[in-house]
Amino acid sequence: MTGSDAAADAGSAQPSNADSPTAVTLDSKLANVLGGRTAGALAKAFGVTTVGDLLSHYPRRYALRGELTALSMLPVDENVTIVAEVLEVRERTMKSRRGSILEVKISDGKGVLTLTFFNQAWRSRELAPGVRGIFAGKVSDYRGSLQLAHPDYELFDAQADAAPVDAQAAKKWAETPIPIYPATGTVASWQVQKSIEILLDSLGPVPDPLPDDVREERGLLPYGTALERIHRPRSDADWHSARDTLRYTEAFVLQCALVQQHSVARERHTTPRAPVPGGYLARFDAALSFQLTADQDTVGAEIARDLAQTAPMNRLVQGEVGSGKTVVALRAMLTVADSGGQAALLAPTEVLAAQHLRSIVATLGPDLAAELMPVLLTGQLPAAERRKALLRMVSGQARIVIGTHALLGESVSFFDLGLVVVDEQHRFGVDQREALRLKGAIPPHVLVLTATPIPRTIAMTVFGDLDVSTIAMLPAGRAGIQSFVVPLADKPAWALRVWDRLAEELALGRQGFVVCPAIAPKEPEEGESLEPDATTPGVATPDAAAPTSVESLLAELRRKPALAAARIAPLHGRMTSEAKDQTMRAFAAGEIDVLVATTVIEVGVDVANASAMVVMDADRFGVSQLHQLRGRVGRGGVPGLCLLVTSAQTGSLARERVEAVAATLDGFELAQVDLELRQEGDVLGSIQSGGRSSLRLLRVATDGDLIADARAHAQRLIGGDPALRTEPALREAVRRRLDDSERASLSKG
Ligand code: ADP
Ligand code: MG
Repeated sequence: MTGSDAAADAGSAQPSNADSPTAVTLDSKLANVLGGRTAGALAKAFGVTTVGDLLSHYPRRYALRGELTALSMLPVDENVTIVAEVLEVRERTMKSRRGSILEVKISDGKGVLTLTFFNQAWRSRELAPGVRGIFAGKVSDYRGSLQLAHPDYELFDAQADAAPVDAQAAKKWAETPIPIYPATGTVASWQVQKSIEILLDSLGPVPDPLPDDVREERGLLPYGTALERIHRPRSDADWHSARDTLRYTEAFVLQCALVQQHSVARERHTTPRAPVPGGYLARFDAALSFQLTADQDTVGAEIARDLAQTAPMNRLVQGEVGSGKTVVALRAMLTVADSGGQAALLAPTEVLAAQHLRSIVATLGPDLAAELMPVLLTGQLPAAERRKALLRMVSGQARIVIGTHALLGESVSFFDLGLVVVDEQHRFGVDQREALRLKGAIPPHVLVLTATPIPRTIAMTVFGDLDVSTIAMLPAGRAGIQSFVVPLADKPAWALRVWDRLAEELALGRQGFVVCPAIAPKEPEEGESLEPDATTPGVATPDAAAPTSVESLLAELRRKPALAAARIAPLHGRMTSEAKDQTMRAFAAGEIDVLVATTVIEVGVDVANASAMVVMDADRFGVSQLHQLRGRVGRGGVPGLCLLVTSAQTGSLARERVEAVAATLDGFELAQVDLELRQEGDVLGSIQSGGRSSLRLLRVATDGDLIADARAHAQRLIGGDPALRTEPALREAVRRRLDDSERASLSKG
């Protein structure tokens, strides 16, 4: 697509706009306003299909006509949009074949870039020295100098922008912000801009999704005005105020969608579940060897209240590793068993599923275990055992079923599935959870457990349709964890001390973990939980040394005199599930002293005697991830020791993150740090099972107050008018927001 195509397309399509002879609305198809070719290109590039979609494709930033952007920093092989001035134009003929090359040097006053065009000498008529414009294309490195081959461009002094005559007009012209849109190799920024201008020119009056009182209270612009000003600002103040309005509108519409969804979910019907006197739960509680913490009690009561209702429970329980979520979940499962139903516990890995089964059987004790007949269903099960497990599930004999995604298989069915517990929700695909929900003839109650502390804003934004319970305190008697940074950049000699310290722990009869970012030399463990920020600038520089790998460190540690007596074994994602499971069992049984592992140990591995954790290249892990890893030690009465080894320089962002982890044990505080230090999308992404953030202007790290305000307004409004009958424009905006795919991912959350 080129700009002229867009104009031509639109010119011919507009008069015969089939949508409505009177006005273009937010729901009009782009093809009807811009023509099929342009609409097709935009759909392919940005996934936009309606006028409303494209009008929500907001500028990424604004350039000034007088502004010259840094040419010296252009990344090779990326699509860039730059503002620059033509310096000189040169045409030369090619030696080897017929034709000519037009070379145009442009500059921003600092760097120089060459544009090349083959057989397009005519462009020298418009690309004259002194002309300014926006240039877009993919940067390539040609014999050591940067160039753009066949770039798209838009010159500022084209007719529409005719050079102003008087000085004041010139100043104004130079100060008018130029929207720079997210662009792709096929659709450049100003092509988006042209299309959007056509939309704005043909758009009828736009109804305002914000209720009048809300808009007035916050001093926001009418919606139509905000759309105009964000795309066609006359000054910076224009887009500032437009952005405020659109950001709040986004928060408000999203919260209305979530609050409404929450109330719709509560209108569905399921079987209420309550414990019976002298039943499984009563017997379990009577035999429990410890007292529940106050938080466990509170959350337990919240769950019991949910389970007793005909509306299915949709609750998220968050709590630190070791805070006792599993016990809380097990009590919910027993409540369901008391009422004759079954409960399924979905774990993210085979190792964890097997571990859950072992610990649940142990926690239940022999009598309850025999009666409730917990079964394991994973993909690794031999055929005979699998048949037996399936039979027990469908007959209702097994009141508790624990498994991996194998539970979602088509041949799997339950007798009376009353409750689904999802452990470590962010590792489990939303579709998989939904599939499990559909296993019941009627919707089961759903309980989601997560050890990732979720800052309030994210809870409101991503899990706004779930009720959230928090277990903030750890059971008494935990000996605690001491964390230290081992800064190799400043103190290289400490590298040896790390292994002596580990050996000291082993000498006390304890065990340890050593965590590495990679499995084999030079190969980061793909698909493992090394977080996306490991590749963002400031975290690990591209030319940094290769990450420490399990294989090389294992060999190294086995040669260390200090660890000569230690039994050291690897654990990583490239081992078979069988081998992993076997290794974990051996470690749990004390037959292995040190596990050299990747982050496979991050989730849930529970060995009370493990006291030491060494994290190599700690700066390559996310803040929350380090905190999770650390939760593997200090779980019993043995005090934990966590050594965070890093080569990051003092004062670097990478170092700051590692220091933050060492400085506090408060997971919520760290989650907030994480949120502030990391890319938004990564934070939301890791929580949404890799799903992409669909937020546009809203930033969960910084817009907490605004989101809370929007949620309060949304709750008040929907409380009085659940179907939004009095606010048709808002109702439409909510419907638009929850287009099919988004609706799916939100309702499955
Ligand atoms: P989480 O799932 O939140 O990581 P678990 O439920 O696995 O935590 O509990 C961790 C350990 O603490 C388990 O061994 C469990 O039996 C024990 N535990 C749970 N609640 C309490 C409590 N209130 N007092 C003492 N120990 C507890
Ligand atoms: Mg757990």
